[in-house]
Amino acid sequence: MAIPFLQAIAVSKVYSGIQESGLQKTDLVINQGQITAIIGESGSGKSTLLRLLYGLLSPDKGEVLFKGERIWGPEEKLIPGHDAMKMVTQQTDDLNLFAKVWDNVASMLPHTDLKAKQDKTEKILKQLKMSSLANKRVVDLSGGEKQRVAIGRALITSPEILLLDEPFNQVDTSFREGLQHIIREIVKETGLTVIIVSHDPAEVLSMADELIVLKQGSILESGNPKILYQAPQFLYTARLLTNCTILTNDEAKACGIKTKAAHIVIYPEWIKTMKSWTHKDWEIKQILFKGCNEDLLLENKGITIRALNDQFGKYSEGDKVYLKLNKWLEY
Ligand code: ADP
Ligand code: MG
Repeated sequence: MAIPFLQAIAVSKVYSGIQESGLQKTDLVINQGQITAIIGESGSGKSTLLRLLYGLLSPDKGEVLFKGERIWGPEEKLIPGHDAMKMVTQQTDDLNLFAKVWDNVASMLPHTDLKAKQDKTEKILKQLKMSSLANKRVVDLSGGEKQRVAIGRALITSPEILLLDEPFNQVDTSFREGLQHIIREIVKETGLTVIIVSHDPAEVLSMADELIVLKQGSILESGNPKILYQAPQFLYTARLLTNCTILTNDEAKACGIKTKAAHIVIYPEWIKTMKSWTHKDWEIKQILFKGCNEDLLLENKGITIRALNDQFGKYSEGDKVYLKLNKWLEY
């Protein structure tokens, strides 16, 4: 059997306090040349897992293997972190603010082959669409641009794995999508392996080949993002991936849904609303403009449901409508 690219075997790291936290015993394989996203609510152990995979933290038990070889923890290594990996976080502290973008990126390479250094810096800046920023000082850049310099510094050393810990949080939406796209392109072109931690559903769904869902320090489920989105095994996953409505059994029954499940989950796009002369049980309480579509908050018998509407101007707040459910999930 082939040796896994990056593997965690029964790895745990527990912080004891009022409540135990960290990462429970975890097994995991990361495939080469893919983007793996780790998603979970705040405090679920995402950063802990990433730091264990990189070798910034030593596990209490178990081990992490990169191409079959154990990764050394910070106590065993002079410069913490595996040499074949690079990590980018929200902090861009290690940038030299008063040096130019070019020098910030180029200085990651040794001084031995100046031609190679020049070529590689040029290539990375081009890849990250930063060529025009080369002569600007980092201190004069926006948050998103700084983040790109940090990624450039990581990529120029040709790591085999790029670890990203919520790197785009401070970056505005348009920049964020650009960066996500660039990283996907680099993965396709170079075979780079990326592990990204995020709590932004749009980000993980659009970027990841593989999704890992963490809850309270354990992997709850994992797999293809499309499959996890359409049919999550757990309500927790559905709630992380979409702005869904969760109804108790009683509430579901009150809405005319026959079910034995304790909870049902309805995604906004599974609801069809219609104007009707005879059926107008649901009142449109709020219309939330979302740019390319709008969310409707519908209320009936004290129950609120979120629905997606792409026909602008069809409804006003206060309208009474008929609601049809095409699908729901049971938990
Ligand atoms: P996430 O990145 O998913 O928000 P973390 O991996 O940072 O979560 O943290 C998981 C849990 O472990 C949290 O409850 C956090 O408070 C706790 N934790 C993380 N690092 C430490 C530490 N050095 N000492 C004590 N508790 C920690
Ligand atoms: Mg974190």
